[in-house]
Amino acid sequence: MEREMRHPFKVVIVTGVPGVGKTTVLNHLEKLAGERGLKVRIVNFGTYMLETALREGLVSHRDEMRKLPLRKQLELQALAARRIIEDAAGSLGEDGFLLIDTHALVKTVAGYWPGLPKHVLDELKPDMIAVIEASPEEIAARQARDKSRVRSDIGGAEGAARLMEYARAAAFASAVHYASTVAVVENREGKAEEAARNLLELITRL
Ligand code: ATP
Ligand code: AMP
Ligand code: MG
Repeated sequence: MEREMRHPFKVVIVTGVPGVGKTTVLNHLEKLAGERGLKVRIVNFGTYMLETALREGLVSHRDEMRKLPLRKQLELQALAARRIIEDAAGSLGEDGFLLIDTHALVKTVAGYWPGLPKHVLDELKPDMIAVIEASPEEIAARQARDKSRVRSDIGGAEGAARLMEYARAAAFASAVHYASTVAVVENREGKAEEAARNLLELITRL
């Protein structure tokens, strides 16, 4: 195996439009993996970016980052990718799984922007890119119910449907660089744990 194609641990990038339920599914997955004795580390790409953005006084919450100038978003993105791998390398061995909660495509103020361009993939070297999906109407309802976040810029069900279509294409485009599998996982209403179980089953086959 070409060493530069993979990290010792398995890397799974988890994507999906805002509000589809990535973070919720991954919370379930962490618990299920613990019960099975699997070594998983779950990190949120946006949280790594936010740490720097807050320190620099650029934003006051995570949903403001996609409104920053694109050169700044690029800088935050590159730093986050590097730090995520540095941190994981210190704690995961060959039997470990790194799951990264992020986006294949970000709807920014300057257009749709790839979350997983080549410079990010060169750091992450993903074994798998998972795409979490649900119906656009369910996504819009989840966004509306979740008062802790500001996702109105996604444009409700119509905006979610369009972003989902483009993000799927972006996920496949990103998969090409490091020969990653693409796994589409449905997060049905009230069934986030089932989605987590399905994703866990898929990653154990890597
Ligand atoms: P973002 O990309 O903006 O971080 P996300 O994909 O991580 O979004 P979550 O924060 O996990 O989305 O979920 C959004 C809302 O939807 C939350 O209120 C969560 O409780 C709810 N939710 C998640 N999965 C389901 C599900 N299967 N059924 C019903 N509600 C769900
Ligand atoms: P999240 O909590 O997953 O919605 O992430 C919060 C914000 O972080 C997103 O709205 C984006 O602005 C940013 N973000 C997350 N992942 C990426 C990525 N891979 N590339 C660029 N920006 C990202
Ligand atoms: Mg989230």
